Amino acid sequence: ERTDKKAYEEAQKRLKMAEDDQRNMLPELRKRSRYDYLKKREEEKLEDLEAEIKDEEYLFASDNMTERERKDLEYKRKLRDLAKEYKKAGAKEHEERKNRYYMPEEKRSKDVPQRDLELEETPLELGGEQGRWEEERLRTAALSFGAKRERELGVRQEQERYQLILEEEEMIDFVSTQEEPTLSQADLKKQSIQEVRRSLPIFPFREDLLRAITQHQILVIEGETGSGKTTQIPQYLMEDVSLKLLLIRSGLPRRVAAMSVAARVAEETGVKLGNEVGYSIRFEDCTSERTVLKYMTDGMLLREFLTEPDLASYSVVIIDEAHERTLHTDILFGLIKDIARFRSDLKVLVASATLDTERFSCFFDDAPVFRIPGRRFPVDIFYTKAPEADYLEACVVSVLQIHVTQAPGDCLVFLTGQEEIEACCEMLQERCRRLGSKIAELVVLPIYANLPSDMQAKIFSPTPPGARKVVVATNIAETSLTIDGIIYVIDPGFCKQKSYNARTGMESLIVTPCSRASANQRAGRAGRVAAGKCFRLYTAWAFKHEMEETTIPEIQRTNLGNVVLLLKSLGINDLIHFDFMDPPPHETLVLALEQLYALGALNHLGELTKMGRRMAELPVDPMLSKMILASEQYKCSEEVLTIAAMLSVNNSIFYRPKDKVVHADNARMNFTVPGGDHLVLLNVYNQWVESGFSTQWCYENFIQFRSMRRARDVRDQLEGLMERIEVEVVSSLEDSVPIRKAITAGYFYHTARLSKGGYKTVKHQQTVYVHPNSSLFEEQPRWLIYHELVFTTKEFMRQVIEIDSGWLLEVAPHYYKSKE
Ligand code: ADP
Ligand code: MG
Repeated sequence: ERTDKKAYEEAQKRLKMAEDDQRNMLPELRKRSRYDYLKKREEEKLEDLEAEIKDEEYLFASDNMTERERKDLEYKRKLRDLAKEYKKAGAKEHEERKNRYYMPEEKRSKDVPQRDLELEETPLELGGEQGRWEEERLRTAALSFGAKRERELGVRQEQERYQLILEEEEMIDFVSTQEEPTLSQADLKKQSIQEVRRSLPIFPFREDLLRAITQHQILVIEGETGSGKTTQIPQYLMEDVSLKLLLIRSGLPRRVAAMSVAARVAEETGVKLGNEVGYSIRFEDCTSERTVLKYMTDGMLLREFLTEPDLASYSVVIIDEAHERTLHTDILFGLIKDIARFRSDLKVLVASATLDTERFSCFFDDAPVFRIPGRRFPVDIFYTKAPEADYLEACVVSVLQIHVTQAPGDCLVFLTGQEEIEACCEMLQERCRRLGSKIAELVVLPIYANLPSDMQAKIFSPTPPGARKVVVATNIAETSLTIDGIIYVIDPGFCKQKSYNARTGMESLIVTPCSRASANQRAGRAGRVAAGKCFRLYTAWAFKHEMEETTIPEIQRTNLGNVVLLLKSLGINDLIHFDFMDPPPHETLVLALEQLYALGALNHLGELTKMGRRMAELPVDPMLSKMILASEQYKCSEEVLTIAAMLSVNNSIFYRPKDKVVHADNARMNFTVPGGDHLVLLNVYNQWVESGFSTQWCYENFIQFRSMRRARDVRDQLEGLMERIEVEVVSSLEDSVPIRKAITAGYFYHTARLSKGGYKTVKHQQTVYVHPNSSLFEEQPRWLIYHELVFTTKEFMRQVIEIDSGWLLEVAPHYYKSKE
């Protein structure tokens, strides 16, 4: 079995080879404008990686590291080493063309005319165990691609061959939906819309399904992605009985899905979008009086509860994509289960891909599960031999490799967000332009949440004859959207996930490895119309050892305080008894409620206050949002926003190289201002602004440029939200007192007081110490507010400011009065 160590050694060997090639390659590469761009990107990435590793090493030097954090750090180190090696070789692009996978030599000599193409130099590695296995698989899989030559064979012979790879029932299905084993989308299009509808896996179960819905109030429906759950079930209901319908789509950026599916269903039912069939997403409502079927995001459905707590105008609610387990979906589960109890006429359907359906059934008091038998063709999975340093570039190369070596069939690439997708599409188009007529046409199409809807529709249009379509998508194509004709999937193994960092109190979207369940869903997209192939841009070892089994439900990745604010803003007051599918620990919930009360977000009845409503709009820890909101009153929001942003990149601002410790410490001293660390951070940021956001300035002052850049991004985002919650961004012209008061208003929970034995927290009388890095280390003021407590050798307070005890009564009278 391959281990990463082995793979790594192999990569090094290959790098040595690449180094040899470098001399001839480099001049040519330089000619390409793209190369410079790539190189720059590469360097930036390496720099980022270096900085990240350094931060973490620093952070974890003596702290206890969780297993996961340790693994993560190890992985980053590995990536860094690899990236460094690549950089050294300087001919990465060339290197990547070699041996990325055991790319099967399929049809090359028959279908794809021989072309004098660089990519075809790729030496094939079909020797050994793996090679033989591949060859065998190939012999059986080859026919399903419907090469012209194969099509000329007799039908009987074909069927015999099918039997090698297909179950009998699958074979019948396959033959019946496609007379010829061809993937021509034009042919598919020739079928009338009704024929297409009838060919979907769900169709034979139409009557059974309708019967089940009539018989049960709550029904869980499980079916392979693309079987027709989202588009067909509501139509069956509309055709059958005239019910007022509501359909929701779940998922964070699933606006696209709601729109695109509504458009499709309107087309299938032959109505104008917005009439009988419509959609409703944030800032856009495309429905009318006549609308009976409404597709909406889960977030919008939650809002619906505000105006209509019993959903009285709806007779059917479908929670679609239930397996996604977004925060909104999870909350909907609880709400809808509750409503269903007293609205016996309401039908609830929970639709999910083939994941976790038992849990849904359990949650809804053992509701029956209706399984739509899957129709899935085999998908061969290929892994890379070594970890990829740059998955974006790796995607581009893989697409081209597939394009020139593999049989016809469209290709789906999974990336994490708009920026990446645009870069990837651009790179692909650029390469194709360069290759010109040497390769067949490649139609490159992006799909992500903010793409204009006319562009979105393009991914569904048929591929022109002779060409190949490549759809570069976010997670949305994992289970929400099904694009027909996909045979190849490229999966770098990453996704963007919301995550909450308890250290910094920030929620952010970060790129993380996806789960094994996700990876398998992605692979499945290749096997919908014929046998397919999935190319994973990570090692088999990584799949087994570095990925989580399933994606952690979003509710467990968010700050509980914010969940409470959301629920309260929906008018749900009894949270202790709220029916969560994965309930948070009771004590944590009580603590969150207590804290929100102390912060003034909830009143003594536990109801949301105006302050709380505004706090709910900010994607940060409640204490941090309170601090920001309080800055309005003290007229120092400009400064407080900066401090909030700087705190969010906490502990990675100052750079302290081992060989220049004295210089670095001196540089740090120069930023010291009276009052405390928050004000030091503000000072650093302001000086950086004055330097014109200079890299050089950072370098000279031992400040980490990357962290500053991140702080600027966070600041911009927060500032953008100020308008929504109506906070005027103004600057304090006096001293630092208003700023420190605003901080106190958010963090009065974190007060420590100097007594004989040192500092003790006010809340728990716990002995704590000022961190040696703090600007107040030697000052010992009587009252302090700390940003966080970290336990290393002792319980240290990190980022502290001096306060006046009188302020505590001013900012939190209800909390401090009750204490005295
Ligand atoms: P499920 O919800 O079970 O995953 P869907 O109902 O989304 O399945 O998809 C059923 C079929 O409808 C698929 O073959 C898919 O390609 C097709 N389809 C869905 N949306 C569109 C669209 N906007 N344009 C064209 N075809 C679509
Ligand atoms: Mg669906």
